[in-house]
Amino acid sequence: MKEKHLDTICVQGTYQPKNGEPRVIPICQSTTYKYDSGEHLGKLFDLKEPGHMYTRISNPTVEYVEEHIAALEGGVGAMLVSSGQSANFLTVFNITSAGQNFVSLTSIYGGTINLFSVTMKRMGIECRFVLPGMTDEEIDRLFDDNTRMVFGETLSNPGLSVLDIERFAKIAHKHGVPLVVDNTFPTPVLCRPIRHGADIVVHSTTKYMDGHASVVGGVIVDSGNFDWSAGGKYPEFTTPDESYHGVVYTESFGRAAFITKARVQLLRDFGCIQQPLTAFLLNEGLESLALRMQRHSENALALAAYLERHEKVSFVNYPGLASSPQHALAEKYLPNGASGVIAFGIKGGRNAAMKFMDACRLASIVVHVADARTCVLHPASTTHRQLTDKQLEESGIGADLIRMSVGIENIQDILEDVEQALAAV
Ligand SMILES: *Cc1c(COP(=O)(O)O)cnc(C)c1O
Repeated sequence: MKEKHLDTICVQGTYQPKNGEPRVIPICQSTTYKYDSGEHLGKLFDLKEPGHMYTRISNPTVEYVEEHIAALEGGVGAMLVSSGQSANFLTVFNITSAGQNFVSLTSIYGGTINLFSVTMKRMGIECRFVLPGMTDEEIDRLFDDNTRMVFGETLSNPGLSVLDIERFAKIAHKHGVPLVVDNTFPTPVLCRPIRHGADIVVHSTTKYMDGHASVVGGVIVDSGNFDWSAGGKYPEFTTPDESYHGVVYTESFGRAAFITKARVQLLRDFGCIQQPLTAFLLNEGLESLALRMQRHSENALALAAYLERHEKVSFVNYPGLASSPQHALAEKYLPNGASGVIAFGIKGGRNAAMKFMDACRLASIVVHVADARTCVLHPASTTHRQLTDKQLEESGIGADLIRMSVGIENIQDILEDVEQALAAV
């Protein structure tokens, strides 16, 4: 059958109830499963037959939602985890060990920077950062025989730079390593990184996928396209895993080797699972994702265009604006919208920006982004308040910067709220 359009996959997912079964995915709130024989359970433990053993490894509700997201991203498999942070951690740790390294863009989420540069370092894993403006030759020099992957965000949080996925896929593949893309901000509705050459896609499902600021979660999607046996570079996939009765992942699981190993090794050992009820709530969000992303993008573009013309605004950063230096990349990778987050500066610096944030009424002050409700944040006085003005400037977050996550309310109400808040400055 022809592949369905993405908005149809959002609504319908892949769950197909049989005659008389519930139309909506059931919540299987059970840690355990019952078997007719010990022999059958033995086969499950040997990974010879698919089936559920224990909810720390898999669960029917969680599996329905994993299949839904794998279909949205166009991957061979997906694994839900407890948060976006776990998704990034397990992805790196699935293919990188102490003494090895990986390459990452610097324009990524602050929590991920901390995970990569502080916590993973304590595990003996080194992250080598690609600075903005580096040439391909300069990036090539970051790689050595122990480099295991390349990491970037499709649309970075909070810098809003657009990743040239095809360029970085080419660089990664030249060095025989996979490209991992965090696709949290666009979601598969606005960009499907696997189509541009990404091998692994990760998400904080806490953001737009849930979309209602209800549940923290993460997901890892395996494209199935990376050949782990080429060049003998990844023996963890091609030689027996002693912790799993000598299974060889590429032999037993073929294209799903990466995601299977992540599950039966790392989810088993770290236990950072997504709970069945959380997965159910996430799935409710997925059903309306296509509609919401369209509205988020339309509203954000309209607000960005309004702010660009406002005399009290010093700059607007939104890749969807024709004036943005990111616009050409946005047209290529985000042709249907540049998502809902914008950043802008208020003339008058720190105090003016704080005044603006406090004056917002419809937009609420929260640390979160990617909610159906419009949210506003002044990073310099909140999430980044430990930084000096000079450090703020260096990290691209000036003391005058406001981040707005534009919701799906009526755009007139959003514009009026911003207008009255700017008037109060
Ligand atoms: C929020 C976020 C994360 C972390 O996700 P949590 O679900 O909060 O753990 C990772 N990457 C990006 C791009 C994010 O926006």
